[in-house]
Amino acid sequence: MKLSNEIQPEIISASSRDVASRPSGYPNQYIFERDRFRCRYCGAGSDRFEAWMIASLTVDHVRPQCDGGSDEDRNLVTACRACNSYKGSAKVETFDEAKALVMERRERARLWWGRHVQPILRL
Ligand SMILES: [Zn+2]
Repeated sequence: MKLSNEIQPEIISASSRDVASRPSGYPNQYIFERDRFRCRYCGAGSDRFEAWMIASLTVDHVRPQCDGGSDEDRNLVTACRACNSYKGSAKVETFDEAKALVMERRERARLWWGRHVQPILRL
């Protein structure tokens, strides 16, 4: 199944189960399965093992726990390690706000890479 990189906020808001009511076993498995094992911010992840490994999927609290964010499914998304790091504990209220912030920070990193890393790789 091909996954779209488009935001699907209805998936997040449709469910409000909390940790206690999730199926037992690996605690993040339910979130990963809901999000089809892809980063909800950038789409990283793959049906190829090596690409999936590189993505290092995590579960991100859209509204950070330090800002009162809950462990309910609707506040959790699958995020690759890079996107989770770029978002950090930024105070956001919605997934759209979080995605905009992550993508802005990724773009800044991409520009930095173009100026400081890529020229060296071309030597
Ligand atoms: Zn990502």
